[in-house]
Amino acid sequence: MSLETEQLNELHWLMEMLHTIDVGLVVLDRQYKVQIWNGFMENHSGLLPREVKDKILFDLFDEIPKDWFKRKAESVFLLKNRAFTIWEQRPYVFKFQNYRPITGTADFMYQNTTFIPLISATGVVSHLCLIVYDVTDNAVHKQDLERVNSELAILSQTDGLTQLFNRTHWENCLQGEYKRWCRSRSSSSLVMLDIDHFKRVNDSYGHMVGDEVIRHLAGVIREHVRETDISGRYGGEEFVILLADTTAENALVFAERLRKEIAEAIVKYNDIEISYSISLGIAEIDESIKTYETWIECADAALYQSKEEGGRNCVTIYSNKS
Ligand code: GH3
Ligand code: MG
Ligand code: MG
Repeated sequence: MSLETEQLNELHWLMEMLHTIDVGLVVLDRQYKVQIWNGFMENHSGLLPREVKDKILFDLFDEIPKDWFKRKAESVFLLKNRAFTIWEQRPYVFKFQNYRPITGTADFMYQNTTFIPLISATGVVSHLCLIVYDVTDNAVHKQDLERVNSELAILSQTDGLTQLFNRTHWENCLQGEYKRWCRSRSSSSLVMLDIDHFKRVNDSYGHMVGDEVIRHLAGVIREHVRETDISGRYGGEEFVILLADTTAENALVFAERLRKEIAEAIVKYNDIEISYSISLGIAEIDESIKTYETWIECADAALYQSKEEGGRNCVTIYSNKS
């Protein structure tokens, strides 16, 4: 085989490989007219090389934002540097359908695209090559992972029975609110509440009914709080609500409303009808409270007072003079 034939063969093979390779290859001239269009681009766009040849890219694909694309391309022409765009910034350059069997859930093909300057023998960048990678598998897996992670994060913060925050997460929020208060010194109140004689509910009707009562209380709390309030299940039938920007007097209005609604409510479980009440304690943050744990202790002390001195079904505001 002569050297010339050998070189021709190699060139032919190279062209064959570029045509069949599983990435998109496009060459554009200075006017953004298509010069080369490989098999990947043909298969996914449905346009043959002869149909796109010498056509302006933006006339063929109106989904490509012209200004954005030109800004990127012009810097490649001028600076002779490569440029990239990844799917996290822009899901795709060419809107192709996604045919992958495993990641068939994606509506379109996610793409990473590289812009390469093609330098002529005279050192001028006369053309631009686009390399388009199908990264749908990566993108879909990453998005699935992110979704599952955020679901897990929510689950790890949520109490299973009531869907309110669990104790750990609620305490983290309280800690955050305490730090905020240290900076801002705006008023903030903590309400702690506990179902009265709950053991009797469990003993008389069983734990399933007890659980229904706990769920009912959580529902009423949810209905009464504002978006900025942070409510959680602190223990068995003990709940906590953090009322930001609220004085003890205003927290008392909230607590009384909650107490009355519970005292008047009837929880139905099959044929059983249950009435119950709650006792509440309020502690407004002030300079004498040095840690968030002490803040909880103050609200707990007020709750204890409602139980022991108030005879239950009542609200007490914590006072460090008492
Ligand atoms: P008090 O008025 O003094 O609060 O009386 P109480 O009977 O409610 O006493 P306490 O608050 O100490 O009782 C808590 C009871 O709550 C004991 C426990 O069996 C029950 N409990 C705790 N968690 C759950 C739960 O998830 N489901 C049910 N059904 N019961 C629970
Ligand atoms: Mg109780
Ligand atoms: Mg209790």
